[in-house]
Amino acid sequence: MRVIPYSRQYINEDDINAVINILSNDWLTQGPTIEKFERTIAEYCGAKYAVAVSSGTAALHLACLVAGIGSNDEVITSPITFVASANCALYVGAKPVFVDVTPDTICLNPQNLEEYLNAKFSTRSPSQHVTTPKAVIPVHFAGVPCDMEAIRGIAEKYNLLIIEDACHALGAEYRVGEKWNKVGSCSHSDMAVFSFHPLKHITTGEGGAITTNNSKFYERLILLRTHGITKTHTNFINKDLAFSTSDKPASNVNPWYYEMQELGFNYRITDIQCALGLSQFKKLDYFVARRREIAAKYNKAFKDIECIKIMKEPEKTKSTWHLYVVRIDFQRLGKSRSLVMNKLRKKGIGTQVHYIPVHLQPYYKKMGYKEGNYPVAEQYYKLCLSLPLFPGLSKKDIGLIISTIREEFQYENVAY
Ligand SMILES: *Cc1c(COP(=O)(O)O)cnc(C)c1O
Repeated sequence: MRVIPYSRQYINEDDINAVINILSNDWLTQGPTIEKFERTIAEYCGAKYAVAVSSGTAALHLACLVAGIGSNDEVITSPITFVASANCALYVGAKPVFVDVTPDTICLNPQNLEEYLNAKFSTRSPSQHVTTPKAVIPVHFAGVPCDMEAIRGIAEKYNLLIIEDACHALGAEYRVGEKWNKVGSCSHSDMAVFSFHPLKHITTGEGGAITTNNSKFYERLILLRTHGITKTHTNFINKDLAFSTSDKPASNVNPWYYEMQELGFNYRITDIQCALGLSQFKKLDYFVARRREIAAKYNKAFKDIECIKIMKEPEKTKSTWHLYVVRIDFQRLGKSRSLVMNKLRKKGIGTQVHYIPVHLQPYYKKMGYKEGNYPVAEQYYKLCLSLPLFPGLSKKDIGLIISTIREEFQYENVAY
């Protein structure tokens, strides 16, 4: 039996042709399509630079590295996210710290951030300062931009860098004063990170990107993406090895020469992936519009069901509706979440839970985090369920999802 997944990529003939065509190109990787893809990302977001890499996780790791985060530093993020948003702190030897989310948007709550930092920095005893907050990673949960104006204000006060986890929010916008800012423009952050996994807004199979307006960050991202190796002659350090004569124009560069200047990684994306990404980008505005349209339909269809609480798009934001999350009062409904999920699955509707709070994962529990630490996140987790939402959902499937959900709740004699 066919089950509608909670999310799915949208691939059409143009995408397929783009991939087929690139296969007869000179470059399968490290070629010009990567730069073209990067320029497209940067221009779309309104940032100066974009660096495309092998995954969103690699993007987060590199962002933390170039931000200079290391041991004795803390990286603050929210507990309701994919584990990668916190793991990137561990990759660079820092301590991941969580602050609770706002009950309405499930985004990092600026007030909790400020309280945490205030308590941290007002502790005068240096022995208690084993680790110092260095960066904050706000996650634009389900496509709703965090309150970047507030977060920026707090980050400036406490001297924190901001790395947006924008993996849910390619195409999202937020308004500050009169001005609408695209997520990824970095108008209120140092860097923003995207993922192009098939379940994100556009896909390259696997892939990710970092946007920034900071040329220093940009140059180091490029370097660290590929082993810390540079072939740019103006950057060479070992001049004796690099140049054949004592004056150092490009024409005197030893033709074999390259230089490893830092310990980097192979986090490269391929030209094949970028060809797909470029083709996907042409549909991005349609994807976002379609998601918003379906979400609006759901909102209308579910708003009278008393056991269901729908997510609202806050004022001053344009959400990309990466996920359609409802909060269900399972207690009142008299059914467990797993029962509801299994029943819906039998009726052809796939659902998922986003997310198990990161601090409750065994690996994080070993670090000392425990149940009760972040009550808003934990309460949300008990109620949340993501319903299918993706651009390729047919009218028929949308109708089926709506009628099945309504039936499911009406059957239990719940007033709506
Ligand atoms: C998908 C995702 C990531 C990781 O991206 P990958 O490309 O899968 O490595 C990180 N953070 C969030 C919020 C995500 O949704």
